[in-house]
Amino acid sequence: MWCNHDTEGGMSRLTLIAAAAVCLGGCSPRSAGPEPAPAGTRDVPHALPPGTITDWRAAPPAGYAADANRTNLPAGAAMEFHDLRIRVESIDTATRPVTAMLRLDRGGNSDVRRVDSGAAFNWDGYHVAVVSIPRPGELGGGLVMLEVATLASLPEVVARSDVAGPAAFRVRVPHRITHVTLHHTGFPEPLRPEEDPVVRLRNLQSWGATDRNWWDVPYHFLIDLEGRVYEGRDWRYKGDTNTTYEPGGHFLISVIGNYEIQEPTAAQVETIADLMAWAIDRFDVPLDRIGGHYNYATTACPGERFRGMLEDGTFRRKVEERLARR
Ligand SMILES: [Zn+2]
Repeated sequence: MWCNHDTEGGMSRLTLIAAAAVCLGGCSPRSAGPEPAPAGTRDVPHALPPGTITDWRAAPPAGYAADANRTNLPAGAAMEFHDLRIRVESIDTATRPVTAMLRLDRGGNSDVRRVDSGAAFNWDGYHVAVVSIPRPGELGGGLVMLEVATLASLPEVVARSDVAGPAAFRVRVPHRITHVTLHHTGFPEPLRPEEDPVVRLRNLQSWGATDRNWWDVPYHFLIDLEGRVYEGRDWRYKGDTNTTYEPGGHFLISVIGNYEIQEPTAAQVETIADLMAWAIDRFDVPLDRIGGHYNYATTACPGERFRGMLEDGTFRRKVEERLARR
């Protein structure tokens, strides 16, 4: 069940152990440890829906904006970024660390490289980081989590690095919003009324950084049981996922909890509709682009009850009502 969700996973420590083993097993001397976060990350104001709670974090978001992309590819799949094409030829999980054979093509140049999980390299003007290759059975198993950037857009410390490095090294990928997509966080335990949702959010942020190597929580806005809205990652940058759908272009609303095993509240439903209407108005998204994670990947997200409300037109109707009042 987890493996299809974006967020928490009980097996997550395995990934950490595997990542630690990358360097224990013999990294080159200059990658004895990632350097501190690159300078130059600036947070500038961007529009937020009225009433959004922004002060829940224990630490600011990491990463930096670059001319870059991040994507998850199974063996046999390829990504294109500007004039560069990267294809995952194969994944070898018998090795420690796990390795992938990558084929690189740009113009008339091509190359095939065997790359370790957690490594990074420069090729023909680009920086390619193999952020992670989870083992089978781990969250994201069977996928190569790749990040690629133009060398010119990177801070020097990242451009020179031969390790993918921690969350501080991750790129913020700009995108243009074309879809409004509902998720749940998919935590193993339901969110309970007596809980402080901020604890869940802080855990999600730190788990995302240490386990998934994300620069921030993967969603743009999150909603608690009382319908309060918390700002997640800056909506100007695309979200992250452990599945294969492309999160670029998606305005990601996530309901805190697990709605396969708990019931939505009336306040949540109204707030989701408010937020969807705000986004549809703000980004000029057609109403038929309201969907759920399950529309784009093999997953139960955002849970049975919310899937029902997406499919029976409940959210669309509520959004239309709100837009008509503007
Ligand atoms: Zn989801």
